[in-house]
Amino acid sequence: MIETETIWNDSGYDCDHCGGQILERTDIETGQPARVCYQCQACGCQWEISGEVLRIGSTNSCRRAQRVRNRSEVTTAIDPIKLRIVVVATLLFLGTIVYFGGLTAVRFLVPIAIAVFVFWTLYQMGKERMWW
Ligand SMILES: [Zn+2]
Ligand SMILES: [Zn+2]
Repeated sequence: MIETETIWNDSGYDCDHCGGQILERTDIETGQPARVCYQCQACGCQWEISGEVLRIGSTNSCRRAQRVRNRSEVTTAIDPIKLRIVVVATLLFLGTIVYFGGLTAVRFLVPIAIAVFVFWTLYQMGKERMWW
């Protein structure tokens, strides 16, 4: 026989949509691990303990809060894509140099890179020891 029980506790938070009291809801079902989530008493929104939205309430402020949330997720999602484009473009650029210049380009670029690195290290070292 399966019994379900729901326990409500005060989570100590106030809802940022409606200012209502947020309760900690624990659903216990026989033979199942207890499921805990937060639920606003006033607007009915539900959140996972991790902060993920489970259910959005029906008031305007709930929907507005969800829109703001979606927008911030979209803006943070763009950056890794931009980064990937820059990386791919750099790789394509290097690939093109190597393809057209062949080993000559590599032979030409490597000493330059080493020279720049050595000069940069010397410059930093000298600056630390106040040679200049
Ligand atoms: Zn609420
Ligand atoms: Zn809400």
